Amino acid sequence: MEIPRLHPGDLLELRKPHPCGTKQFRVVRVGSEVRIVCCHCGRDLVLDRPKLERAIKHIIPADQDKIAQERMD
Ligand SMILES: [Zn+2]
Repeated sequence: MEIPRLHPGDLLELRKPHPCGTKQFRVVRVGSEVRIVCCHCGRDLVLDRPKLERAIKHIIPADQDKIAQERMD
């Protein structure tokens, strides 16, 4: 299996929803641990990278995400 390449700004859809009900999270910082922010309630989480990678269902890269681009302008 290909290892997902994560970058700050990427939008992730996870297999397991946050308690608030959304499955979409924004990547904030990438290292041995990855910090993500819930797109719905704004709470941030820090996860071990292997654990997060197993939980990812879909990645929307920052350069394909128009909402992210608007926020960066
Ligand atoms: Zn949430």
